[in-house]
Amino acid sequence: MSRSRSFLFNTLLSKSSDLFFAVNEEFVIKDVNRSSREILGFLPEELLNTSFIQLIERDARLLVEDSFFRSKVKEEQSIRISVLGSKDRLVALELFIFWCVTDRLFYISATPLKEDVLPVLREQDIFQYLFMESPMPLVIWDFSTLKIIACNPQALNKYGYTHEEFLKLDITQIRPEEDIPLILAATESEEAYRKIKKRWRHIKKNGELMHVDTYTKIIDYKGRKAALVHVSDVTEKVEAEEELLKAYKKVSDYKFALDESSIVAITDAEGVITYVNDNFCRVSGYNREELIGATHRLINSGFHDKGFFQNMWQTISGGQVWRGEVKNRSKKGAFYWVDATIVPFLDSNNKPYQYMAVRFDITANKQSEENILIKTRLLSAIAEVISTLFQYDKWEDALDASFGIVGKAISVDRVYYFENYFDPHTHEGFANQKLEWTAATAHAQLDNPELQDLPFSVIDDFIVPLRNKQPFVAIVREMDESVTKELLVAQDIKSILVLPIFLKGYFYGFIGFDDCKQERHWREDEISFLKTLTSKLTSAIEKRRNMLDLQDALREKSHILESIGDAFFAVDKNWIVNYWNKRAETILGIKREEILGQNLWTVFNEEEHSPFYTFYGKSQGKETPDHFEVFYDPLGIWLEVSSYPSPSGLSIYFKDISGRKNSEVSLKKMNRELALSNSELEQFAFVASHDLQEPLRMITSFLSQLEKRYGDLLDERAKKYIYFASDGAKRMRNIILDLLEFSRIGRTTEDKQTVSLEALLDEVVGLNRKLIQEKKAKVVWEDGLPELYTFKSPLRLVFQNLINNGLKYQAKGTIPVINIAAKETETAWHFTVADNGIGIDSEYFDKIFTIFQRLHNKEEYSGTGVGLAICKKIIENLDGEIWVTSELGKGSEFHFILPK
Ligand code: ADP
Repeated sequence: MSRSRSFLFNTLLSKSSDLFFAVNEEFVIKDVNRSSREILGFLPEELLNTSFIQLIERDARLLVEDSFFRSKVKEEQSIRISVLGSKDRLVALELFIFWCVTDRLFYISATPLKEDVLPVLREQDIFQYLFMESPMPLVIWDFSTLKIIACNPQALNKYGYTHEEFLKLDITQIRPEEDIPLILAATESEEAYRKIKKRWRHIKKNGELMHVDTYTKIIDYKGRKAALVHVSDVTEKVEAEEELLKAYKKVSDYKFALDESSIVAITDAEGVITYVNDNFCRVSGYNREELIGATHRLINSGFHDKGFFQNMWQTISGGQVWRGEVKNRSKKGAFYWVDATIVPFLDSNNKPYQYMAVRFDITANKQSEENILIKTRLLSAIAEVISTLFQYDKWEDALDASFGIVGKAISVDRVYYFENYFDPHTHEGFANQKLEWTAATAHAQLDNPELQDLPFSVIDDFIVPLRNKQPFVAIVREMDESVTKELLVAQDIKSILVLPIFLKGYFYGFIGFDDCKQERHWREDEISFLKTLTSKLTSAIEKRRNMLDLQDALREKSHILESIGDAFFAVDKNWIVNYWNKRAETILGIKREEILGQNLWTVFNEEEHSPFYTFYGKSQGKETPDHFEVFYDPLGIWLEVSSYPSPSGLSIYFKDISGRKNSEVSLKKMNRELALSNSELEQFAFVASHDLQEPLRMITSFLSQLEKRYGDLLDERAKKYIYFASDGAKRMRNIILDLLEFSRIGRTTEDKQTVSLEALLDEVVGLNRKLIQEKKAKVVWEDGLPELYTFKSPLRLVFQNLINNGLKYQAKGTIPVINIAAKETETAWHFTVADNGIGIDSEYFDKIFTIFQRLHNKEEYSGTGVGLAICKKIIENLDGEIWVTSELGKGSEFHFILPK
């Protein structure tokens, strides 16, 4: 193959008048025929192994190279160019270029052209060729109208328009709207245009956005000023850049977040710090210069032991990540806790070449952990105090021990207790130190005379909050000048907290806590702990007080028990006697020493079936006291026995009631006698009044006979005497009738009945009708008077007497008005009969109820003086009460009460 081709070629070469070349891929001439002499003026030997491109006119070289390439991918290429002949003579040639893949050579035939055609053709062709065939999209637009006036197929391809469509557009139409102002501004002048950035965003026909880099040249295109734009699509690049930017941003965000939130440090393999972030500086208090080059020993707090750091180094130098909580110390000496993660960075040999430590400040968490620890400590102190308060018999010892526990728990230097004292006359208050506990670090103040009998008035600022049940808290240095401050300073106190003690609402004293080492801001939990403790101690104090009171009361009680006239003894549930007073010794004839601790029934063995035995037995189970009276034969006396059961046993009181018993008997006898004489008396009154009627009637009737028969014979004086005599007899009769009535009271045979008070009053008014009419009197009562279940006649008699008196005891010319009323109470009826009469002097309020007692003579007001006595007797018989209220000249009000 190669021989025949070579033969063919050689033949052609030698025979043809055209010029032939064989050129390799480096454009080196490998063969040339003889025509070179005629056409170019060079011998083939001169041309062999020289560069073909060197023969081409400078301006056309690119075009030729391009054609060579093109011939490789497409078909043969023809091109018209000028070639440099010998003596710099330009020869116009038309070249045909073939690529032979097998030979890997370009074969070129060159035909000389007529000299005059070439220049015109060349310029147009070159441009046309370059423009149309450029693998890059090229667009030409009119610089003044912005209209697209030309483009190459690549441009159409890129933008997706047809040639026709594309040439209808102006350059704003291939840009996103928001970029239009930019391009408009840029195209205002050539100068402006040159300044613009070369990266733009263009829009394809399908709306797709692309990023492009443009290379523009302002040219004269067919007589118009136009821009020739070389468009290079960099969308992929831009997107990749954006992606990269995003990824970078992400990383830097992470870095930022890490830097913001944590304390970052990098050390070299030896642990020397090479990098710290701002947080590290801020938290540690050291600046960057101080830290870099140093090791972490700078911030070592000394809290962790050697093993802790050894373990850490072992882990990280072995290439492992270490994590742990570390207590560090800042430059200022403050401690801070960090949660540290140390990551070793390994080299290709897996050896750490640096360490990165990322730490988070966890001081707050640690503090709350510590707080919990403190709280637990405080709580256990409370528990300890409470049990201490129970353990000690002596209250002061208990308190003393408690103070020690508290003082240690909150690490103060002094704990003390002051008790108040109030002057009973001036009411001035004083504080006295009673107890004190001091830590080894402080001086005791218990014997400080300044702290005894401290008057409140002098330490006002201190006492006022306590009195208001508030704690007194102070940092002594910050206090205003005062006696209190002086006192505190004198005791070296730096901080103080004092809590008041109130017993039964009364300011009893206070408990104080001193810190002599530091100015201390008491924490909430410490204050509440101390408050709890103070309240426990308060109740301990209260208990002690109550105990003292109880002891006093007991002493008093036993004193009473000893001194009372009653015998008293007490037994427990098992009848063991645990109290036996003096009187019991006398009454029961047994000495205290003989019976205390003994079983009651062993000592009183004969009594086992006595009423005492039964009574006590019953009382043991009961809850309420019980009493009984018994004649105690052995001593011949009457006893009243009272039992008071309690959960622990029984208390028994004995009272010698022989005296009372005896007087009871004589009283009964007297009563009997009295009742007897009373009834005899009534009998007598009845008989007397009844029997007296008869002779009286005789006197009256014979006196009236005397007046009738011998009236003519008698002078005026005699007639007057007869009148006096009969009047006296009449009055005597009234008296006797009243007396009879009086004596009958209580002996009625009448039964109780329901009595309407209104009906009863109607009757009484009827009986007094004459008198009422004469005096034009008014007897009135309200509606709704009750109905009573009682004896009718006596009640009527009461009203009859009271109303009659009301009508009778009136000043002349007054119209009597009598008002009757009834008021109901829970247990009784309260009646009133009020008049507007002459009234009664209070001196006589009682007297008028006595039989035959009158305040007026018969000439003034007639009467016997029995009426109110009858009323009183009736009312009292009905278990009621009667009395009067009155004012002279204004009227009287008679009251009586009848139980329901
Ligand atoms: P008598 O009316 O028969 O004298 P009483 O026993 O009814 O007897 O009254 C005793 C005295 O009480 C009367 O004498 C009268 O002085 C005085 N008395 C009674 N009722 C009234 C009254 N309503 N107002 C003033 N005095 C009265």
